[in-house]
Amino acid sequence: MNAIETQQFDTRSLQQRDSAHYMHPFTDTKALAGRGARIITRGDGIYIWDSEGNKILDGMSGLWCVNVGYGRHELVDAAARQMTQLPFYNSFFNTSVIPAIELAELLTEITPPQFNHFFFTNSGSEGNDTILRMVRRYWDVKGQPQKKTLIARKNAYHGSTVCGASLGGMSYMHEQGDLPIPGIAHIEQPYYFEHGKGMTPEAFALKAAGWLEEKILELGADKVAAFIGEPVQGAGGVIIPPPGYWPEIQRICDKYDVLLICDEVITGFGRLGTWFGHEYFGIKPDLLTFAKGVTSGYIPLGGVAVGDRVANVLIEQGGDFNHGFTYSGHPVACAVAVENIRILQREGIVERVAAETAPYLRRRFTELADHPLVGLAETCGLMAGLVLVKDKATQSVFDPQHEVGMICRGYCFSGGVIMRAVGDRMIIAPPLVITPAQIDEMIGLIRAALDSTLAEVQRRGLL
Ligand SMILES: *Cc1c(COP(=O)(O)O)cnc(C)c1O
Repeated sequence: MNAIETQQFDTRSLQQRDSAHYMHPFTDTKALAGRGARIITRGDGIYIWDSEGNKILDGMSGLWCVNVGYGRHELVDAAARQMTQLPFYNSFFNTSVIPAIELAELLTEITPPQFNHFFFTNSGSEGNDTILRMVRRYWDVKGQPQKKTLIARKNAYHGSTVCGASLGGMSYMHEQGDLPIPGIAHIEQPYYFEHGKGMTPEAFALKAAGWLEEKILELGADKVAAFIGEPVQGAGGVIIPPPGYWPEIQRICDKYDVLLICDEVITGFGRLGTWFGHEYFGIKPDLLTFAKGVTSGYIPLGGVAVGDRVANVLIEQGGDFNHGFTYSGHPVACAVAVENIRILQREGIVERVAAETAPYLRRRFTELADHPLVGLAETCGLMAGLVLVKDKATQSVFDPQHEVGMICRGYCFSGGVIMRAVGDRMIIAPPLVITPAQIDEMIGLIRAALDSTLAEVQRRGLL
């Protein structure tokens, strides 16, 4: 055992210091202070450890990002090398840096052929802010300045900046800070479990995509700049669109001359067994947002892949694009991204997800549907979700105020596996390097947590 593995922590003191000064994202600070945060101290492979020494299988890849797993010395070395040589220089005033050049080149190689230009940011939110400005600029330059509105979906997640939260469809985010900003419209999400009852998935796909056409006609096609969606919604609860949805969305965007944007912050870099999620669904977006998996979370980086249709107009006719960040093309972040992509390539990780681990996860995860609490269990690539129900036969759900999902999440955590609760939908997105044996271990831990949840729900008389 090395020094990191044997390190000791004073959890209580860390929790007190945490709540004294550190405001956490998406957190009720007062409630957390009463509870005390769980302090995570190290990671290796697909596992993390907390300050009490508990080993936990990270079913969420940190926050959908640690795709190549924890403890990758190649990434540490790439960062250290670049920090030593040139920790920072900007790309603003006719200057450039080698790692940003290399990353843009490598992204050209691994993205579909229409993507030949890349803009870098620090996060997915900033990527989506960049896209909003780019598509509005695109239509301005094209002489259609009235084509400004972006259509997005309810329960989508596009980040937490003013623009990201506005594009997103989280009502609890819109409630704070007078969002969404003007010029953004939302349609209903393609969630079969909630909106498709009694229809075939194929018929529901056409109906759900049809909501886009209705909204375009309502606003006027000459006012609509773009449609944005996550290939599979992540933070909304791993909402997997029914077959046929995305091709129909593409057809509608083409018909009304509306740009198609895929937010690939989660689905990019192999999560669905294809380099990008839109390839899994067979569509051809004009722009895509990436972040998270581009560096496997080792360092912040995001960006936008700009398809030729938009890039040609902005570059040939647009002149200065008055947008960017101090750290756009940060050399250390780009160097880590290049090495992360090379790891994915060298180890054939994306291919292995497609051929081996995604099919295996589907087989094992859908078996959970036989559990008395589980109404539905589905997967797409290495993303999966199940719905906790009160009554399997009628698929009736629990009263949200009982927070059964949170009860289940608690049993997962204390049992040694991280699963996220979105209402009563329990979701996972494990590191892409998870092996079949580790999938077996994860499913076993989830089943044990479901059993404990069932016992508690019975004890509380909620069934
Ligand atoms: C996480 C996420 C974002 C926001 O990325 P940040 O780096 O947190 O700003 C945007 N879109 C999707 C789909 C995400 O999952």
